[in-house]
Amino acid sequence: MQHESPIKRRPSTRIYVGDVPIGDGAPISVQSMTNTRTTDVDATVAQIQSLEKVGADIVRVSVPTMDAAEAFKQIKQQVSVPLVADIHFDYRIALKVAEYGVDCLRINPGNIGKEDRIRAVVDCARDKNIPIRIGVNGGSLEKDIQEKYGEPTAEALVESAMRHVDILDRLNFDQFKVSVKASDAFLAIDSYRLLANKIDQPLHLGITEAGGARAGSVKSAIGLGILLSEGIGDTLRVSLAANPVEEIKVGFDILKSLRIRSRGINFIACPTCSRQEFDVIATVNALEERLEDVLTPMDVSLIGCVVNGPGEAEAAHLGLAGSKNKSALYEDGKRLKERLDNNALLDQLEAKIRAKASVIEQSGRIKINQIEE
Ligand code: SF4
Repeated sequence: MQHESPIKRRPSTRIYVGDVPIGDGAPISVQSMTNTRTTDVDATVAQIQSLEKVGADIVRVSVPTMDAAEAFKQIKQQVSVPLVADIHFDYRIALKVAEYGVDCLRINPGNIGKEDRIRAVVDCARDKNIPIRIGVNGGSLEKDIQEKYGEPTAEALVESAMRHVDILDRLNFDQFKVSVKASDAFLAIDSYRLLANKIDQPLHLGITEAGGARAGSVKSAIGLGILLSEGIGDTLRVSLAANPVEEIKVGFDILKSLRIRSRGINFIACPTCSRQEFDVIATVNALEERLEDVLTPMDVSLIGCVVNGPGEAEAAHLGLAGSKNKSALYEDGKRLKERLDNNALLDQLEAKIRAKASVIEQSGRIKINQIEE
């Protein structure tokens, strides 16, 4: 039941994206990015709201044109989750969205162009308390760095990142975070490890273009999981060729697996075999879907028989251990007198889990929907 994570986080400075703290021990935030046309305000707002509903702490929106910047203004007025504007090259767009209340700029200072333009963006960010994310990507390294290293290497990614970092240092601006993403998990891992020792700022983790929902989730879980287990990473995005809502869910599942941060129900279910006394797979799938709106962190074990059922149930907030006709129910590790009919589990289990979630929430032991300091 909600064991502490043994991970020791890398010390870092802290920035705030809107009201979300990043770095210096703040809970690791989970973000995603919209894939609607930003100029389609209604569709983008709807997508941001669906991301917020599944727990997104921060949402990034790409702002490629001045028209998109105008749309961003309207979007910003209709949502409450902090927004990062993704901008490449055009410093005027950065100034515009800053005026419209953006919470973070993803822009690489080295790509903005002339010194006066860089200074204009950085001064504006400083005045308005807007942090910057430097985002380096293995697929879009500067030409001279590509030539120097021949191929994207960790050193190449970090050299590129440090160019941008040095510009901000020179302008005395320290409110930034950095990402060095690559689609290869090992390259990303090596790059983040290297960078973690070079700067004090928080790190934004990601395995870029990780792939489709299944393979991309596995690759991200391995790449991000290794870094997170070493204490590296302060905010993350899982990049999937899938609905961005999946990115948030997978991001939380990664944090949940490492016991770093919980949101929603952690189902413990056995893989099933011929001993199962109720249909475990159908039950867990149906409950996952029915209970998507429950954000209270809690453990629910659904185990098909008495081989592992009682043991798992004893460690969960609620547990079901399959047995003939009627299965045994556990709450906070204790077996209850009440048993549930194996043929009518779903409605009863849903009601019991909801009731337990509200007890946990009301007990005030776990605050949800907010990032705690
Ligand atoms: S807990 Fe029971 S039903 Fe589930 S896999 Fe193990 S032996 Fe099979």
